Amino acid sequence: MTQARKLAAGNWKMNGTRAALAELEALARAHPNPSVGILICPPATLIQTASAAMADTPVEIGGQDCHAEPSGTHTGDISAEMLVDAGATSVILGHSERREDHEESSEDVRAKAKAAQAVGLVTIICLGESLAQREANNTLDIIGGQLAASLPDSCCATNTVVAYEPIWAIGTGKVPTTAQIDEVHDFIRTRLIQRFGEAEGGGIPLLYGGSVKPGNAAEIFATDNVDGALVGGASLKAEDFSPIITALE
Ligand code: PEP
Repeated sequence: MTQARKLAAGNWKMNGTRAALAELEALARAHPNPSVGILICPPATLIQTASAAMADTPVEIGGQDCHAEPSGTHTGDISAEMLVDAGATSVILGHSERREDHEESSEDVRAKAKAAQAVGLVTIICLGESLAQREANNTLDIIGGQLAASLPDSCCATNTVVAYEPIWAIGTGKVPTTAQIDEVHDFIRTRLIQRFGEAEGGGIPLLYGGSVKPGNAAEIFATDNVDGALVGGASLKAEDFSPIITALE
């Protein structure tokens, strides 16, 4: 992926069969010349068809996870190289649903990110606190710990995107205040600069994710240190995702 500083990324999760490719076609028609990056991460079964269908459009296609090993006895898993072979340019890693459903640790995420970056994928690394952790005033500790452990030393401005996704905001319709988003993004930015330096750490795009909709996107994008969004439910239909892209432009 040609790393765009501003990025509207859609995570289709376990949704979509070939019929859903019509939504991609509609998205590409609506944004023939966008000033921001557009990425859709469909289920693995659609990556090859989707990337072929979007080949002459600005819409890029990504994966939702990959294995840390390049090949081997891992039934049901997909390697980073396989994603590239299918036409993906990036991959989401460490989504809270992977961390919860598959007990992925930040160390697992770091190994996957290293493998993905080694084959040229842009890694979108997700961090987020639970409601209990926020209510216990532990948000920055949790985010700081996840950030330190999930990002390999190979991260730089052109191969990494960080997505802040409070778990309690995903799919719930609850959204943090812009002050809360600002506080966490500012914290992440400071830590990235401390670890990777001003040019690289300062250049890694920071996405917000969690119940982003056409109606709240503009306010979220006006927040400092928000370079775009990782969108779940509202990325499934072009009519919902398109106004979010427009709000980012
Ligand atoms: C997500 O799962 O990454 C997400 C942000 O979901 P939603 O937009 O549906 O809250």
